[in-house]
Amino acid sequence: MNMNVAVLKAAPAAAPATEPDYADQILGPSTASRRAFRDAMLLAVDMVADGSAASGSYSGTTVQGLSGLLDDLDPLPEVGTGIAAALADIGRPALDHALAVGHPAAMAHLHCPVAVPALAAEVLISATNQSLDSWDQSPFATLVEERVLAQLTKLAGLPPSASGSFTSGGSQSNMTALYLAAARFGAQARRSGVIFTSEQSHFSIRKSAAILGFADDAVIAIATDAEGRMSVSALEAGLQRVLSEGGVAVAVVATAGTTDLGAIDPLAEIADLAAAHDLWMHVDAAYGGGLLFSRHRGRLAGLERAHSIALDFHKMLFQPISCGALLLADGAHFAPLASKADYLNPEDAVFADAPNLVERSMQTTRRADALKVLMTMRSIGRDGLDALICQTLENTRAAAEAVEARDYLRLARPPSLSTVLFRYVPAGGPDLADEITLKTRAALFHAGIAALATTVLDGRVHFKLTLLNPRSTPDVVHRVLDAIGETARELETHHARA
Ligand SMILES: *Cc1c(COP(=O)(O)O)cnc(C)c1O
Repeated sequence: MNMNVAVLKAAPAAAPATEPDYADQILGPSTASRRAFRDAMLLAVDMVADGSAASGSYSGTTVQGLSGLLDDLDPLPEVGTGIAAALADIGRPALDHALAVGHPAAMAHLHCPVAVPALAAEVLISATNQSLDSWDQSPFATLVEERVLAQLTKLAGLPPSASGSFTSGGSQSNMTALYLAAARFGAQARRSGVIFTSEQSHFSIRKSAAILGFADDAVIAIATDAEGRMSVSALEAGLQRVLSEGGVAVAVVATAGTTDLGAIDPLAEIADLAAAHDLWMHVDAAYGGGLLFSRHRGRLAGLERAHSIALDFHKMLFQPISCGALLLADGAHFAPLASKADYLNPEDAVFADAPNLVERSMQTTRRADALKVLMTMRSIGRDGLDALICQTLENTRAAAEAVEARDYLRLARPPSLSTVLFRYVPAGGPDLADEITLKTRAALFHAGIAALATTVLDGRVHFKLTLLNPRSTPDVVHRVLDAIGETARELETHHARA
């Protein structure tokens, strides 16, 4: 070892005893900073493990109430309070007034409870603070992302040419995919390019097209069948019309698991049509992609023929936000993202054989989120993940039966994944139903009894349960449906008297 390296590796000089050494608040090799880290983490972890003061899905505090709690707090005091006081002042209310995502009656959105191994990984991800924009900022984490992507492309059935990148979620995956699809046509794509997607597809498709500079009418909404799946004959007709008018068909976006109905578009038939017209096929599997980790992966047949796939692990795979991936069947299609920055990807590679992940992302600095997926897959395993996902699907089937068994509720459709949509049927006739549904949702939320969603289907307001928690078992659902009935009837009586 030469002299300079030995000096660099020597223990840092002891801090002066008088002044507080703020540098100990920055995690580094010093014993004091590591002790500060451990103390802070143990306090926070104990606080989470001991649980929230609220026993339900939410404390019930109103917006004004929460606002009041924050009004009493000086966010940037002259002299800091130290971690224990800051956790008491901020951590405590943050925990007590959070939506309890792990509560079995938190069943509103595609917003999952989190897996314990992923939380342990989050400590490593944040504390090591690796950034995936260059290999020298994330030596091991870069290779972890590569390996996890290889596992994902294999699960999806993509060819050996496949590649991918972790993203902040489905919206970013969708936008990146559409950018890459459009890049094949240059400026022409923005002038006269068209994107086909079903009328039930996620709003991020439309938003992406707008941000990418497509014309206002560039996204063509294709009709869906009764179950919410894209009609392939309508897609074919739309495609023929656009081509005959001299338009540029940029991509078809199929959805594997629509946000409301969980509908899975007929992927294989769409792939046939896409292949016949050299059309880029993107599959938004942000929701339904979770099936890849279960025995039900066969329901995604045709996915392996996509050009690009959006996956979200913070939907069905129990990952803390944010965690998504974009997969490409042909890694060469990432080329339009490979803009050069002398400081990140120099012409003469300094580090031979190092993957250059910045060339596959619209982000520069990027979290090492693949680590939590790897920790989850490795520690829970195939059987465990399959069991967890199957449990949520079984809970959903049971919930639909429980809805059907109640005369004051009408099931909208048989469930496809883990959402259940149904209407409240008031005794006083259907006029009041929409209003009572919305008011019931708010009342149950504020009572901490359940977090439910509402959505509009066939022009009417429906309740929506999203059962991503394996603990949202039939007995929990029965209690929630009973509470819906009681609350709705009360509101109805109140309404009649008013
Ligand atoms: C949730 C969702 C998205 C958006 O993903 P984010 O991770 O929230 O950005 C896109 N498509 C579908 C089908 C979704 O369910």
